[in-house]
Amino acid sequence: MRHRIAVIGAGPAGLTFARVLHRHDCPVTVLERDPGSDARPPGGTLDLHEKMGQLALEKAGLLAEFEALSRPEGQAMRILDVDGTVLRDWPARPDDLANPEIDRGQLRDLLLGPLDVQWGRGVTEVMPGTRDGALVRFADGREETFDLVIGADGAWSRVRPALSSVTPHYTGVTLVETSLDDVDTRHPDLARLIGDGSMAVYGVNRALVAQRNSGGHVKVYAQFRAPLNTSADTSADTSAVAGLDGADVEAVRSSLLALFDGWAAPVLDLLRHGAAFIPRPLHVLPVSHTWAHVPGVTLLGDAAHLMPPLGLGANLAMLEGAELAESIAATPDPGDLDEVVRAFEEQMWARAAKWAEFTAAGLERLVSPDPAEALALFDSVQPS
Ligand SMILES: Cc1cc2nc3c(=O)[nH]c(=O)nc-3n(C[C@H](O)[C@H](O)[C@H](O)COP(=O)(O)OP(=O)(O)OC[C@H]3O[C@@H](n4cnc5c(N)ncnc54)[C@H](O)[C@@H]3O)c2cc1C
Repeated sequence: MRHRIAVIGAGPAGLTFARVLHRHDCPVTVLERDPGSDARPPGGTLDLHEKMGQLALEKAGLLAEFEALSRPEGQAMRILDVDGTVLRDWPARPDDLANPEIDRGQLRDLLLGPLDVQWGRGVTEVMPGTRDGALVRFADGREETFDLVIGADGAWSRVRPALSSVTPHYTGVTLVETSLDDVDTRHPDLARLIGDGSMAVYGVNRALVAQRNSGGHVKVYAQFRAPLNTSADTSADTSAVAGLDGADVEAVRSSLLALFDGWAAPVLDLLRHGAAFIPRPLHVLPVSHTWAHVPGVTLLGDAAHLMPPLGLGANLAMLEGAELAESIAATPDPGDLDEVVRAFEEQMWARAAKWAEFTAAGLERLVSPDPAEALALFDSVQPS
């Protein structure tokens, strides 16, 4: 008898999980709230680590395709002082396959491949332990039951309440994202400033980071400490940050230019030429978030261990998805499924706790009263 398995969410965690099961001819139902794969911009670039995201793609049989699409040169990193002086410049070798970059949209399409995702199926609630298995309720009022429901539905998971009463809390740091297109032809000076990969400037309690995506697209992240408006809906990415009105592009631009006043003119040009601004208050789950095991439901990725964006969340999400799928595929007897999930959870919690601690400490150093902290952090992780 085959297991009836559903994964909620078609992000890196859910798609990797489903793709590895598909490779092993195990059926899986993928339920995604978005109405289609192109319903919203896919976001910026991701660096996939050899022993995490790339390992997951290998388990999905997609490593060669990833290597053809990814950008090893995107690993280049440059750090500037607020006056524009280059403090560090780490070029990337084209044969360095440790952490190549890939656009999120390319990664999503690669993982989607032959998967038959059910789009427009927002889940509102999961109730484990019913007579017929774990019950999934949808926004349109329908219900379905499965032997195992995997919550891969991100930061504001609707599956998590079935296991844990914990909700994400604000770190005190907000990113405001903007972007530039055709940077090589429209802004050649900025293209040179950014280089082949990423460029970052660290000041007192604030930072500006610019990252190349493919096709001359650049994402810029202004990072700073700010309180949230008490009236804001913190369950939404775009919840308002005190002092910023996300709807008014020119007002946000003026606020950001005032916040970064005194920084070198070419650096501020990243904000002057940016298109729309998207505030992203950074929320996290507590380090070492765990729950009492409940048969029939589990969590993966951000739903289980939301952490600051220091290049690990998608990598962990994908690796977990691949590992759980491989374990399930190797378990023909439905009676053994619960033990497989229990063992997976123990392994996920131990590994995620380590990285959650690392990224929490990292965020404190990157958006710090002492900009030398950011430099020291990079010196400790970059090859000399
Ligand atoms: C600015 C920024 C930069 C980052 N850079 C990196 C990086 O370079 N490297 C890295 O490893 N990580 C990075 N991260 C972290 C990374 O984006 C996340 O950790 C990763 O996307 C988590 O994957 P996930 O599949 O768990 O969740 P998500 O990517 O959030 O996917 C969840 C999916 O579930 C769907 N969903 C949500 N609710 C429901 C519902 N109720 N019903 C059905 N479907 C639902 C969503 O629409 C979405 O498709 C970054 C994050 C940010 C904010």
